[in-house]
Amino acid sequence: MHKRLFIPGPVEVSEDVLQKMATPQIGHRSKEASALQRSISDKMRKVFNTKEEILLSTSSGSGLMEGAVRSCTAKRAAVFSVGAFGKRWFEMCTANGVPADKFDSEWGQPTTPQMLEEALSTGKYDLITITMNETSTGLMNNMEALSSIYKKYPEVIVCVDSVSNAAGTVIKVDEWGIDICITSTQKCLGLPAGMAICTFSKKAVERAKQVTNRGVYFDLLGLYDYIQKKDYQYPSTPSLSHMFALDYQLDKILEEGLENRYSRHIACAEIVRAWARKNFEIFPDEKFMSNTLTCVKNTREIDISDLNKKLGEKNIVISNGYGKLKDKTFRIAHMAETTTQEITNLLEIINEILMLK
Ligand SMILES: *Cc1c(COP(=O)(O)O)cnc(C)c1O
Repeated sequence: MHKRLFIPGPVEVSEDVLQKMATPQIGHRSKEASALQRSISDKMRKVFNTKEEILLSTSSGSGLMEGAVRSCTAKRAAVFSVGAFGKRWFEMCTANGVPADKFDSEWGQPTTPQMLEEALSTGKYDLITITMNETSTGLMNNMEALSSIYKKYPEVIVCVDSVSNAAGTVIKVDEWGIDICITSTQKCLGLPAGMAICTFSKKAVERAKQVTNRGVYFDLLGLYDYIQKKDYQYPSTPSLSHMFALDYQLDKILEEGLENRYSRHIACAEIVRAWARKNFEIFPDEKFMSNTLTCVKNTREIDISDLNKKLGEKNIVISNGYGKLKDKTFRIAHMAETTTQEITNLLEIINEILMLK
């Protein structure tokens, strides 16, 4: 029996989208493949609010995160970390020999404009990474406020992890001056895992040209050059199954309307937040709550794995805390196609199990 996923990726995928994954294969050097990949890129530009190039990668989002810091750091990277995924980006830097420093916020607290200003004013850095929506803590950074600082430093390449919020909450790549904005298919886009997508600005292209050891598979300049020359085809064989499903799902997303989609995510978030405040507490600073998942502080010290076991009997699953927050928090994702009705039903079931009113 299938369990309905309320975890922050992979998410529940609609039956019609799943069916698209079973489309018969086409040659990856065919005109149809070019048209398919161009179509996806055009639609993703709308999601990201950008005129810049889109790169598609047959990998999860981590691949493009690694590719971004390796392809575009000429001098030194400043990694602003608000949880587990910022930490991972720093590890990618060191493992690839990319000089980097990490600027940590306490878990549940955002990256602040002051932190950016202090780091960037040293002149040491030519690339920064920011986690827009941190899935381990349920926190969303204020990109508008952060952009007002880093825009004063035009030599800096801005990389943003929007893996768990793209297509779930508004992202203004061009207005916010983001050079590389990354997401994966298995979160708010509502598809199976296995593909990642990023924006790639002209500024990032110019920078990557100055970097020598960019690797091969995740060399973002290599991908960029190839799709310019080969009409949106990629150097290696992509997951065409994902492409079929993504192109179809993007039509559905644009048909729903991005604004409507974002409002639905917020409506779901507000239901979970009200419930969490009544019965528990919200983990992150309330000024920076994520719209796509809620991280709840386990103030009642409930046994989270036992709760999930009982939810499992009803074919539902939520998420425990991430890493060091494993038993201290639990997380309810309200991503992709999740409706307010589904969220209300979920919380009623949790209330019954925990005997809450
Ligand atoms: C899921 C997630 C990632 C990792 O993405 P993969 O597609 O699993 O590689 C990175 N950052 C954030 C914020 C995430 O939620």
